[in-house]
Amino acid sequence: MAAVGAGGRSPVTLPEVRPDLSALAGYHSAQVDVEVRLNTNESPLPPPIGWQEALTAGIAGIEFNRYPDRQAVGLRRALADSHGVGVDQIFCANGSNEVLQCLLLAYGGPSRTAALFEPTYTLHRHIARITGTTVAAGPRRHDFALDLDVVADVVAGSDPVITFLCSPNNPTGRADSLEEVATVAGIVPGLLVVDEAYGQFAPSSALDLRRQDPSGTRHVVVVRTFSKTWSMAGARLGYLVADPEAVQACELVALPYHLDAAKQLAGRLALDFVDEMNERVAAIAGERGRMASAFAELAVETWPSDANFLLFRPTARDAGAVWADLVSASVLVRDCSQWPGLTGCLRVTVGLPEENDRFLAALTESLR
Ligand code: PMP
Repeated sequence: MAAVGAGGRSPVTLPEVRPDLSALAGYHSAQVDVEVRLNTNESPLPPPIGWQEALTAGIAGIEFNRYPDRQAVGLRRALADSHGVGVDQIFCANGSNEVLQCLLLAYGGPSRTAALFEPTYTLHRHIARITGTTVAAGPRRHDFALDLDVVADVVAGSDPVITFLCSPNNPTGRADSLEEVATVAGIVPGLLVVDEAYGQFAPSSALDLRRQDPSGTRHVVVVRTFSKTWSMAGARLGYLVADPEAVQACELVALPYHLDAAKQLAGRLALDFVDEMNERVAAIAGERGRMASAFAELAVETWPSDANFLLFRPTARDAGAVWADLVSASVLVRDCSQWPGLTGCLRVTVGLPEENDRFLAALTESLR
């Protein structure tokens, strides 16, 4: 049989990737095989056993030969009830990263700008660039609080269609106050997207603003995730609470049936375990306090955290060397030491008490 293409097509080359993407490095936390993983801000605890049982039973009833509920109505209704909003104000996706991507696909793109204040969650900038959205960035203050003058300048200078806040802010840990968020909401020309991936740890939420002044905060979008406090990072589920118009915009760009049936069920069932979730938040906050107190005795600079992680900077040793010492002790933390605005910083997720003990012992040894 003659070979296909006989006559000689020269070796096939693939097209160049979009030129605006070629400079982008992927977003990856180093995955090293260690015993104590404190690098990605997950919950150290599995979901409640009651949830696992209910999910197993529920999965047996799923018709896997059928597409899932395209509108994810059961899940969205449960979320809407939990927040006291309408089902038309909830949009769900595969992790809050995908929620952010949908917002940027719907509202961003070429000739549009997103504003953000760094250091902050790096995926805001990353997804903006993937979607062809211009990024206008301003610095946070030295203590990582928002500088409202900088915010006003960046917003006035760039006319952003989306302004991102991250509260509590990853990787610095600090939550913006309700007054600060309200001030920013008062000056942005487009959407104000408040990423509250760690919202359950924070003293306030932009959802409070939406409740207090529904018509004046129609443009405020609050993004949440099941990955952290709900112990469900493996399920990949996130959502937003917003004006129905913004929900419809996200639905325009989401792929059909993007939320599988098992995920919809997993999320809906999780909402029956709010008490367990709150207990975990309290336990982790307690451990966070213990770790912060231990830091006070060590040669590190650290910052107050309203989340399930702490940022710290070794003052007497190179951060990269400390990170490597910790890995040698089978403890993995996030190395932020080369990130803009975070020179010499490491970030540690609050783990189980025994994991935190291992971390503190290894850190003490490294700094000795
Ligand atoms: N926002 C922030 C601030 C985060 O830290 C993370 C997780 N690193 C996410 C969003 C994404 O979370 P997920 O996609 O797992 O919901």
